Amino acid sequence: MQNEIKKQLEELAYKRSIPFCYSDYMECPSGRCLKCGSDDLMRLVPGVGCEWGIEWVIQHILETELEAVDLEESFEESIRELYPETTKVGWMEFDTVKLMKENDPVGWRCALADYESEELGEGNILSFDNGSTNYRTSDLLELIEA
Ligand SMILES: [Zn+2]
Repeated sequence: MQNEIKKQLEELAYKRSIPFCYSDYMECPSGRCLKCGSDDLMRLVPGVGCEWGIEWVIQHILETELEAVDLEESFEESIRELYPETTKVGWMEFDTVKLMKENDPVGWRCALADYESEELGEGNILSFDNGSTNYRTSDLLELIEA
């Protein structure tokens, strides 16, 4: 799944960028420079930049068109769906999530870590930078299929 999506992101990145000959400083849409004949070309994204390789184009597309997943936030949301919004302790009523987080921060972090590995394991989220940025698989598929 990860590899298939990566491949399609690359295709998208090739479509969204233009081959560019740096020595002649011109666009070469055919993939070969008409002046010097080189096919070892940079990629240009108009208004963004011109660099070697396709990785940076993929990163640019992901950053501008998708919203990275805030795992902590979505974990909190899932907990809020599972449990009552407030919990009574004695005669007092507390926000359940806040109560849990504040009273057992270690337990909360552990559950969050479990949630993260579950989401990754089930393929609900994907990362292309070893986990520092995560994207929803459904968002990625939508981007690719658009
Ligand atoms: Zn050239």
